[in-house]
Amino acid sequence: MTARPDAYTAALQAAHDHALQWLDSQQTRKVPPRATVDDLLPLLGGPLPDVPTDPAEVVELLAKEAEAGLMAIPSGRFFGWVIGGTLPAALAADWLVSAWDQNAGLRAITPATAAVEQIAAGWLLDVLGLPETADVGFVTGATMANFTCLAAARQAALMKAGWDLDREGLNGAPPLQLLVGAERHETVDLALRYLGLGAPTVVAVDDQGRILPAALEAALRPGPAIVCLQAGNIHSGAFDPVAECVEIVHRYGGWVHVDGAFGLWAAASPSLRPRVPGLELADSWATDAHKTLNVPYDSGLAIVADRAAIRAAMGLQASYLIRDEAGDPFEKVPELSRRARGVPVWAALRSLGRQGITDLVDRLALRARQLADGLGQVPGATVVNDVVFTQVSVSFGDDETTRAVTAELLREGTAWMSGSVWQGRAVLRVSVSNWSTDEADVATSVDAVARASARVRAGGAS
Ligand SMILES: *Cc1c(COP(=O)(O)O)cnc(C)c1O
Repeated sequence: MTARPDAYTAALQAAHDHALQWLDSQQTRKVPPRATVDDLLPLLGGPLPDVPTDPAEVVELLAKEAEAGLMAIPSGRFFGWVIGGTLPAALAADWLVSAWDQNAGLRAITPATAAVEQIAAGWLLDVLGLPETADVGFVTGATMANFTCLAAARQAALMKAGWDLDREGLNGAPPLQLLVGAERHETVDLALRYLGLGAPTVVAVDDQGRILPAALEAALRPGPAIVCLQAGNIHSGAFDPVAECVEIVHRYGGWVHVDGAFGLWAAASPSLRPRVPGLELADSWATDAHKTLNVPYDSGLAIVADRAAIRAAMGLQASYLIRDEAGDPFEKVPELSRRARGVPVWAALRSLGRQGITDLVDRLALRARQLADGLGQVPGATVVNDVVFTQVSVSFGDDETTRAVTAELLREGTAWMSGSVWQGRAVLRVSVSNWSTDEADVATSVDAVARASARVRAGGAS
């Protein structure tokens, strides 16, 4: 090995120092970046140097120039889309994953990461109240979790209909019914596209975006079917009535998949769990660890009750691999080579413990409630959803005013919330996903929205 033992020291030390500075700055900094992509290109670009640069110098350059272009996503005042922060143990474990540089696909080759991921999978199923015999694949996010679960669903549904997908492909396959609620996340459609399954049939939802079981039953026909439910609507936080829908779909012999990218975590809280009755009865579940669990990007979980189905869809035979009879991690994910992204999940769970996980989920929901209460007091503002989890949608009257308040809030930059359109109406959408958001962040952010709204109402907004 030509690398000296201290080859990494200065570069890692520089990264460590800058990481701490960045995290410290979250308390006081404005949330939005100050620089644009075009501002940054010349600072970090130019022609590729002909000769090597000292590693620590490269890290210094990167940290110094990138800083102005970073969004303060780890800030307690960031409420955009549904994006979590990072727990300390998870972040530090993620650094180790990079240092260890394990290619985490095979038990016999990387036993430490395989063991850690196996333990994390067991803990996850336990805290989420899912069948302990289910399989967990560590993927990049809920998009790939939806893809992985729906690949297993496709395989199983067609096999049940007597069709060998691996040999015959989709050409001439029996028709597969695909049903989704009108407010499913777009990545469900994307996953179906990846799988060559085309556009799903859309089933009506109620005023909170929950699928209507009667409409689902009316749409179902005998024959192979996959039904995608949702735990956690990005605008309302609402949960589809899983128990009722599972009863209907299973009566027809279909597969129920639940997209619970952030909402699946309600099941980890004894007080919120009653909002998702029957969750454990579904056939597959997609969720993120980088949202509610506050593991660094990227980290998603594909959970499938039927171990044979996920392994049939994602497994691979190759003579050069060293296989383990117990089954290998790569059989549950689309990738063969990948980083050990289950390790930060293990660290998050291990550092929180059962009580800490419950507290995290309950606290996110409490902060959403507090934000809804505060925002509801802002003159002209109306909270338009039932706040049942971590999501709050607010209107400021007509769509034009709502958009103007959103733009004004983001221009000031004290807090970040994203604009959206829900059920035909413009809304300011608040998602509480960061473990560190405290009551002071809530108060500061409500004040920022009140200021933005007052400026718009006074006609003074830019
Ligand atoms: C975020 C989200 C997704 C997509 O997840 P990624 O982690 O961005 O891939 C899917 N479904 C829902 C409900 C989400 O909130």
